[in-house]
Amino acid sequence: MSLHVFLILLLALGLAVQACIGLWFLLSCIWEKEPRATVFAWLQFLGMLGLLIFFLFLSRIGFFDTGAGFASLVGVTLLAVLCAFLGLVKMGKNPKALLGTQGLMVGPVKRFDERDQVFARNRALRPKSEQYKAYYREHPEMEALDADRRVRGGPIGSPGIIDRPHSDANVAMALASLSMPHYLSGSDKVKPQAHFLLKEKLKAGKVVLSPEEATERIKGFARNLGADLVGITEVSPHWVYSHRGEIFNENWEDWGKEISLDHKFAIVFAEEMSFEMIGPAPHTPTVIESMKDYAKGAFISTQLAAMIANLGYSAGANHLRHYEAILPPLAVDAGLGEVGRLGYLITREFGPRVRLGAVTTDLPLVPDKPVDIGVVDFCGFCRKCAVCCPSGSIPLDKDPDTFNGSLRWKLNDATCFEYWGKVGTDCNVCMKVCPWSHARTFPHRLIVSMISRNHLSRRIFSIMDDIFYGRKPKPKVAPSWARFGSG
Ligand code: SF4
Ligand code: SF4
Repeated sequence: MSLHVFLILLLALGLAVQACIGLWFLLSCIWEKEPRATVFAWLQFLGMLGLLIFFLFLSRIGFFDTGAGFASLVGVTLLAVLCAFLGLVKMGKNPKALLGTQGLMVGPVKRFDERDQVFARNRALRPKSEQYKAYYREHPEMEALDADRRVRGGPIGSPGIIDRPHSDANVAMALASLSMPHYLSGSDKVKPQAHFLLKEKLKAGKVVLSPEEATERIKGFARNLGADLVGITEVSPHWVYSHRGEIFNENWEDWGKEISLDHKFAIVFAEEMSFEMIGPAPHTPTVIESMKDYAKGAFISTQLAAMIANLGYSAGANHLRHYEAILPPLAVDAGLGEVGRLGYLITREFGPRVRLGAVTTDLPLVPDKPVDIGVVDFCGFCRKCAVCCPSGSIPLDKDPDTFNGSLRWKLNDATCFEYWGKVGTDCNVCMKVCPWSHARTFPHRLIVSMISRNHLSRRIFSIMDDIFYGRKPKPKVAPSWARFGSG
């Protein structure tokens, strides 16, 4: 075959593949119910198809047999190869990301006290209680703010208020799921003992598994229970809460107790959140989804902890109603992703559209390695979450700042929760608009694989995301069973 024919076939094939991907993307936009993206995807597909037809036409009339035609054939081929190379090669590496949270540390890190957490302050500090007096003696500046929030119903305020008078069913669903982590929060659930049928057998000693086998079985069991991503890390003491602040089962003696965790490993898992339910953020479908995934996190983590206890080891479930550690940094160290500007973990597989759970344990396991998927670089210029945040709580600075000894973009928690209180949901607008959050159809998977390895692709797809989906996307329509309007 002559070079001339080879190049014609190669380019025709390349243009045909490109048009097929364009068609796939168009179908994906229709399936995602994204009207704006569908219009642009149509235009893009028609453009690609037109290019293919024009190319075949030029070939048919013998244009490529001429000197100018052959030169343009070679030029276009070289350009296509260069574009493919620039799109696929790993560029703009961030070696710090490969060190996990260690790579982001620039000074001493003080362990976070759970008593300072906004939900703990709201729930555990009952007016006139000993805890209330003790806490505000130390933090008088917080008292008026917290008192005001308590009057308004806590961080979520009046649930579903944004969608009233049509939110009753959605609030009922969200609160039904919220009950599940509570049912699974007793000390016998979060720090389980071995099943009574195994107690006699375990008196003879723990079950011995190699770390490799234990890791394989634990990860498989977690996935079988519903986890979408599972990673393992050694627990860095920096991310263990210093003192207990949440009280759910009248265990007041625990409030203010120092937390000392002697578990070496953490199994961290993520569950995908439905893009259909996050799409209408900040409306009530988003909080149905969050609560469902917290319930799932409790379901998975308590069973995983029980399984480890049944092998004779110590384990602690971390879920919405019992945390001993801060999960996003543990997830980074376990190789599930990187923390983005919006403060959530961004995973390669689902972007920030995940909820996390974990189990800490002394069962010997094989840790995973942190990953570099280009989040810090992407967030540096994207800023979409910050532009769309209705309360202006996400910083716009190009680079992360130093906060408690670590480099990160620090949210303004107070204004964020203020907004939650106004709408009566957990908002999630930042998660919804993030370009990493799209449904993982084949074209989006392809895009993610490019942006996770290449600075140039990140730049291009960030601009394309704004063109196709809009710089400030509007809330999407919810599935009919979770509708929030009058329809
Ligand atoms: S929206 Fe953009 S800036 Fe915000 S977290 Fe996502 S990628 Fe980063
Ligand atoms: S949850 Fe809403 S208010 Fe809070 S940071 Fe995200 S977009 Fe802003």
